[in-house]
Amino acid sequence: MRKHIVAGNWKMNLTFQEADELLDELMSELEKVELPRDEQVIVCPPFPYIEMASDYANDSYFMVGAQNVSDKEEGAYTGEVSAKMLESCEIDYCIVGHSERRAYYHETDALVAAKVNQLLAHNLKPIVCVGEVLKEREANKQFDVVKTQVEQGLFHLNAEQIQQVIIAYEPVWAIGTGKTATAEQAQEMHAHIRRLLTDKYGKEVADEISILYGGSCKPSNAKELFANPDVDGGLIGGASLKAKDFMGIITAF
Ligand code: PEP
Repeated sequence: MRKHIVAGNWKMNLTFQEADELLDELMSELEKVELPRDEQVIVCPPFPYIEMASDYANDSYFMVGAQNVSDKEEGAYTGEVSAKMLESCEIDYCIVGHSERRAYYHETDALVAAKVNQLLAHNLKPIVCVGEVLKEREANKQFDVVKTQVEQGLFHLNAEQIQQVIIAYEPVWAIGTGKTATAEQAQEMHAHIRRLLTDKYGKEVADEISILYGGSCKPSNAKELFANPDVDGGLIGGASLKAKDFMGIITAF
């Protein structure tokens, strides 16, 4: 059965020293709880701290992910980081297609698909973000928007490959705004995504794929969100920067 996952996306926050303190605190907090066997905690720090996070992860109960990856294999691409490099650093996960990258760095579904291919070729699990902007929801286009993102970003994969992917539904109007989707809105969209996966790959495959919710998720609303049958956890931004808040979400299952 699919995993419950809580992944923290630190974005471009924290100094090295602050990151060190947060990892240290998270490790000691995780030691105090017994997580269910089917729950996975992932921390996605900025690239310069990935090695340090991996060292902590070796002695703790979380795994490490990157926040971005190049769509190219290797070569003269100044400033880029390849999936091959992440694999060689023993990183297991990578966020792809976050709405901030789509909005500020003009990432398209085709680029998302190419990055997913790179990650899978190097044995990393992509955490692929999809979600509509406020205007699209107001026009009741959210289901079509997410369908296009899922189809164009992922539906070139075969059944074996798609089971390596984690999908994060992140309504853009809820990210960093304090506005959360209601539990009903989240479940409705997650069920829609699972239906798309079922139609393409069959129920058995679709049931194996974790679909996370992201957007102003915090300890006070995580329980209600995670109680939904198709919400398999969360991708957490702001609340992952404080060990106590992140733990409040990790223990919400
Ligand atoms: C995110 O950016 O992935 C996110 C969910 O951010 P926040 O939790 O801060 O809304």
